[in-house]
Amino acid sequence: MPHRKYDKVLVINSGSSSLKFMIFSMLDENMLAKGMVERIGTPDANLIYSRTGDKKTEQLVSAENHGKALAVACKLLIDRERGVLKSLRQVQAIGHRVVHGGEQFKSAVEITEDVKAGIKKCSDLAPLHNPANLDGIIACETVFSGVPNIAVFDTAFHQSMPRHSYMYAVPLKYYEDYGIRKYGFHGTSHKFVAQAAAQYLNKPIEQLNLITCHMGNGGSIAAVRKGRVLDTTMGLTPLPGLIMGTRSGDIDPALIFFLAGKGLDLSTIENDLNKESGLKGINGIGSGDMRDTVHASEQGKAAAVNAIEMFGHRAALYIGGYYTLLGGADAIIFTGGIGENSSPARRSVISRLAAIGCKLDEVKNKACFGCQAVISTEDSKTPAIVIPTNEELMIARETYRLLIDNATAANTETKED
Ligand code: ADP
Repeated sequence: MPHRKYDKVLVINSGSSSLKFMIFSMLDENMLAKGMVERIGTPDANLIYSRTGDKKTEQLVSAENHGKALAVACKLLIDRERGVLKSLRQVQAIGHRVVHGGEQFKSAVEITEDVKAGIKKCSDLAPLHNPANLDGIIACETVFSGVPNIAVFDTAFHQSMPRHSYMYAVPLKYYEDYGIRKYGFHGTSHKFVAQAAAQYLNKPIEQLNLITCHMGNGGSIAAVRKGRVLDTTMGLTPLPGLIMGTRSGDIDPALIFFLAGKGLDLSTIENDLNKESGLKGINGIGSGDMRDTVHASEQGKAAAVNAIEMFGHRAALYIGGYYTLLGGADAIIFTGGIGENSSPARRSVISRLAAIGCKLDEVKNKACFGCQAVISTEDSKTPAIVIPTNEELMIARETYRLLIDNATAANTETKED
């Protein structure tokens, strides 16, 4: 709900050597500008920036750490010619993408010292991401003193999963001692498209069963019952589930021991499963990109044709299973770079869904690139809908909601005093 006193929200997605930023006007949910500082900590640090509607610009900058990277980004945001703010004081809250919130964080929270300690504790589960996310948070605390920072977790939406979905059938002590369970990822995207689908179908999310398919370089599917996640394909890590760009998705876990027995070391196997598998491992052209895979398949390369078949087969397996667990679905949603744009990949999935009442309309499918549209036939009992995701806007929304909730609570307290 917009509140005229509050408007500008900054969204930060901080990686180990990059810092992405977007600034939103939340009164109309418009993104005003976005950019990224990449190669932080190297002499080639680079700032890419564009104001909405303007051309992208690039410049070499001096950014030896995340704090310096944020400072150069902020300079641009208030630049007279290229900026979108009169002063940094206009930023009223900052939303941070945080990859892993473990079991501690079930929704977005305002960042305090305790929250930072919690994020640090979850680094065990996301060693590449959480420390980098913390770097972004600390940079913002320094540059924007006194402005509330909000953490929005990739795992939070999936915390609504029931215990029988998230537990693995391994000795209980693994869960108790190490937190080994299914966490799921891409939660912000699944939540965004589930809410957008409810709006599109003109029904409250609490009355809908949805199957949301986020298919980008990484990919996951979620079964969403009445706005809560019933199950999802990623697990303790983002490795299982779908066939992805370079990740294997589901495998027989015993193949690791088999390969170790053949003399491969664990780090080689880990690297191969994460970076050399998926489309890249099987399409015969060594690229993890769906566009390249489709192109090679159209040239008649058998391995690429098979890769697209495998992609569709694996996704349909989960969609069918989730359809059963949900007791039917009101819609199947496709999003992410592949889900939004690749009609051959969508065809491979949807051509396998006739048994659950979802039939592809090939004309609508071919016409849909990054649009919001139904791509199944009119007589399909279970429609397939493409909905572009917007994780940054979702982070901005969660941040804005907390900002207003906290302000309202503070106001009530003052009145009661
Ligand atoms: P990430 O998970 O890194 O955010 P994206 O959501 O951008 O990735 O998805 C990347 C995937 O989307 C790649 O496999 C790419 O081939 C595919 N893709 C992106 N744009 C198109 C397009 N116009 N047509 C077909 N595939 C596309």
